[in-house]
Amino acid sequence: MAQWHERASALKIDGRAFIGGHRVWANSGQQFENVSPVDGRKLGMMARCDGADVDAAVAAARAAFEDRRWARKAPAARKRVLIRFAELMLKHSDELALLETLDMGKPIKYSQNVDVALAANCIRWYGEAIDKIYDQIAPTGEDSLALVTREPVGVVGAIVPWNYPMLMAAWKIGPALAAGNSLVLKPSEKSPLTALRMAEIAIEAGLPPGVFNVVPGFGHEAGAALASHMDVDCIGFTGSTRTGRAILRMAAESNMKRAWTELGGKSANIVCADCPDLDAAVSAAIGSIYFNQGESCNAPSRLFVEASIKDAFIEKALAMIPRYAPGDPLDEDTIMGAIVDDAQMKTVMGYIEAGKAGGAKLLAGGEAVRLDSGGYYVAPTLFDQVDNSMRIAQEEIFGPVLSVLTFTDVNEAVRQANATPYGLAAAVWTSDISKAIKVSRALRAGTVHVNQYDNDDITVPFGGVKQSGNGRDKSLHAFDKYTELKTTWIQI
Ligand code: NAD
Repeated sequence: MAQWHERASALKIDGRAFIGGHRVWANSGQQFENVSPVDGRKLGMMARCDGADVDAAVAAARAAFEDRRWARKAPAARKRVLIRFAELMLKHSDELALLETLDMGKPIKYSQNVDVALAANCIRWYGEAIDKIYDQIAPTGEDSLALVTREPVGVVGAIVPWNYPMLMAAWKIGPALAAGNSLVLKPSEKSPLTALRMAEIAIEAGLPPGVFNVVPGFGHEAGAALASHMDVDCIGFTGSTRTGRAILRMAAESNMKRAWTELGGKSANIVCADCPDLDAAVSAAIGSIYFNQGESCNAPSRLFVEASIKDAFIEKALAMIPRYAPGDPLDEDTIMGAIVDDAQMKTVMGYIEAGKAGGAKLLAGGEAVRLDSGGYYVAPTLFDQVDNSMRIAQEEIFGPVLSVLTFTDVNEAVRQANATPYGLAAAVWTSDISKAIKVSRALRAGTVHVNQYDNDDITVPFGGVKQSGNGRDKSLHAFDKYTELKTTWIQI
């Protein structure tokens, strides 16, 4: 632990934007303070980019796109750069992990083994994929040929949240750059550090300047300027449903750019009495809701458990919860770290109060935790006797709070599972294959898990239905977001 604290004190924070291959302060000279949720200390000042900085970044991205040094490179050449980019991320793994933990509070062991590892793997995977994709010739008439080719859309704007800053950025960077686009990325104002380092690392890997730009700043300033920019061809957004709605509006009202949204969730985890392994179900339910301090879009925050096994389930869950007591994120043994900031901690505590006031029964946690070093921490919280109409069952809390609902009829559990505006992820646990398939089909969610919760792989698409978004990140399907199909008719 001392080793990480020493490294943290030695770390030099560069808060400047990254535009056209250079670190620059905002044109206006405006800055904002970056505070670490780990202990509340000031990490440094960040460039507060506004419309003028976004204009400069988009102009750099456009120039890089037009000069074709990246867009027209052979896919195998883009592949080499992206693989080198991924390798360099792993080489700088300690630094990236430290920046991620200091910026948003997650445990250092996860920053390193999950966030850096998965983000680098994502960049590598898209690099490796891009020279294995063929264009098509359509089955048209005898004396003509129609080529159907994929082209990069041009300048992509990406706006990402703070809960997995590096990974959410990588899910945009990988496919957008592999396909030959230029990119302007706006990280969350709460966690801008790793995106800025990734842009520097990309240049070190051989990416031409201007292809990948990063504009730190606030949503209503840099974010809005990017989403409504007339020279941005496509916006890829990950964040809350509320902001996603605004993004779609801005895209429509500016140049009708393509807009892809990956939004919030309130995922249901349905555990039937014939669940094949109750210990595994408890472990997945608890591990998945408290992982990343509950700040995961697909966290299974509503647990529907069949009445006959509820007491056994709760007893096992309560035995497991103390392991998730929040601790110093720079301690390698910590598995639950800090909430991203004071405002988010207050939001989570507000939901806990709403749960209590609404009549739910608090079985564990329910309070903010003060570590000697300061920072923002919330105890892992479990509510029983939750009704699906309560705010804690309907709204995304984005904190370590699990709501338990009980059912006797699985069809009724499915009906309630679907009765929120969200549709990101869900799960069902049963030994009955027919029931598993029927329930999976009936659940309105982009991802359904059967007898597990935490499987994840870059090869599969991830995204939501209903108000959880309209796009898919990851997998080859993500190329659909960042490429245009072009038809070329040739007379022969
Ligand atoms: P948020 O919507 O507040 O912010 C997301 C990003 O949008 C930030 O960079 C922010 O600065 C920017 N932004 C805010 N207002 C804006 C505006 N008016 N115009 C343009 N940009 C604006 O979300 P958050 O609190 O950072 O992240 C948490 C949310 O993200 C949760 O709802 C979570 O479920 C969701 N999320 C979804 C996925 C997914 O893949 N579906 C993944 C991770 C997080």
